[in-house]
Amino acid sequence: MSISRRNFVKYTTAAAAGTAIFGCSHNDSVSKGSGVIMPKSGKRIVILGGGWGGATAAKYIKLEDPSVEVVMVERQEKFISCPVSNWVIGGFRTMKDITKSYDGLVKNYGVKVVHAEAKDLDAVNKKLMTTKGVLEYDLLLVSPGISYKYETIEGLNNPAAIEMFPAAMKAGHETVLLAERLKAMEPGGVVLLSVPPTPYRCPPGPYERISLIANFIKKYKPGSKIIVFDSNDGIVSKGPLFKAAWEDYYQGIIEYVPDNFIKSVDASTGRVVSEQGDIVPEVANIIPAMKANQTAFNLGLMSNEGDDWVRAYPKTFESYKYDSVHVIGDATHNGAVGGVPKSGYVANSMAKVAAVQMVRKLKGLDPVEPTYVNTCYSLINETEGIFVSAVYRYDEKIDRIMSVSGGVSPTRNALFGKHARDWATSIWSDMLL
Ligand SMILES: Cc1cc2nc3c(=O)[nH]c(=O)nc-3n(C[C@H](O)[C@H](O)[C@H](O)COP(=O)(O)OP(=O)(O)OC[C@H]3O[C@@H](n4cnc5c(N)ncnc54)[C@H](O)[C@@H]3O)c2cc1C
Repeated sequence: MSISRRNFVKYTTAAAAGTAIFGCSHNDSVSKGSGVIMPKSGKRIVILGGGWGGATAAKYIKLEDPSVEVVMVERQEKFISCPVSNWVIGGFRTMKDITKSYDGLVKNYGVKVVHAEAKDLDAVNKKLMTTKGVLEYDLLLVSPGISYKYETIEGLNNPAAIEMFPAAMKAGHETVLLAERLKAMEPGGVVLLSVPPTPYRCPPGPYERISLIANFIKKYKPGSKIIVFDSNDGIVSKGPLFKAAWEDYYQGIIEYVPDNFIKSVDASTGRVVSEQGDIVPEVANIIPAMKANQTAFNLGLMSNEGDDWVRAYPKTFESYKYDSVHVIGDATHNGAVGGVPKSGYVANSMAKVAAVQMVRKLKGLDPVEPTYVNTCYSLINETEGIFVSAVYRYDEKIDRIMSVSGGVSPTRNALFGKHARDWATSIWSDMLL
């Protein structure tokens, strides 16, 4: 993709105006006139996105080869974790608990963090355009996460409706909104949660949330219930375990309706219209269908017309579109990479593979044979947990990631709940410290 003259002028001006850059020498590193910030001297990998994939990759590239300069572009000042954000909605964790600093990456590994918005890409000349100026790279790793397809639900694609029916599948403002609305709801109120069609971020995520909202209602809002409209024909992940917990703990509180799409919403009345009827809930958590983050589209990373996700080769995560651009995490196309869930643990695992392969590529070495792992814990109340786990390998014959072993927890219990808490603490450290 070439840079438009309009954009080139915009980025040049932003860079010349000076920028606040973490982990580098601030304004004096801005090369005035060229629009390039932090001019490159040695080998450099730029990372777009400081979430689960990007932050892990930043650290592991430095571990693999400290001489490679790593510049991570992230719009948010702090890392806010999606895993554990359901516990905030469930009322037993705070936003502070899931908000982390990027300082560890800067101080411990020498990663340079630029808080800016990536806007455009010149893949031919290897330049990423950001709101703080132009960054040159040898290789670019993109892990931008997801965007919602608001347009698939009539009436949802406007700020008032998004605020009234928050999805909260990106941790932040919407997580707080949902938690506050649940707290403010009168006893006897109805909560509506809609599960999007697959593929979406975190297959068990909505069901963990349903369990924890039910747990909250049971304790603090007698007479209330949560109605679930699931676009899928059944619970997408850990179904028997969730069902058993709902029967044992939340009878009369969770009303589960499979195969029911939301057709439209009305922000002025709060009405939600589904295929199987209308409802005006007190609290609504509408989770729309998802696609790769809009950034991937803006940067021109889609290789096939009509795709919602970015195609990349699973052995190296090199994108189909450009060999100097690698893509990992939720944004990847399952048809291209293989049958891995869109999870933080998978993004973390992909990041470690990409880190090794990209450093080898810079050295002119062949890629190694990768393996990948995933465990997704879910709480069904404050103490008890369940999990699904898998080990994957790269299958050369079909050029896809394949599951080689795995399974779900035999039951729910407090030990698995403890593992869920320990997993979060340890993987946050693995990414950020
Ligand atoms: C409620 C919930 C619970 C979950 N629980 C679990 C769990 O228990 N276990 C698990 O493994 N996974 C879980 N997940 C899934 C996990 O959060 C995602 O799979 C993971 O975040 C994907 O990582 P990523 O790097 O692809 O995207 P993200 O982590 O979303 O990172 C993308 C980053 O890119 C940045 N970005 C995007 N575009 C730009 C741009 N143009 N300029 C600058 N920055 C940009 C964003 O700000 C963001 O920080 C959960 C998700 C949710 C919503």
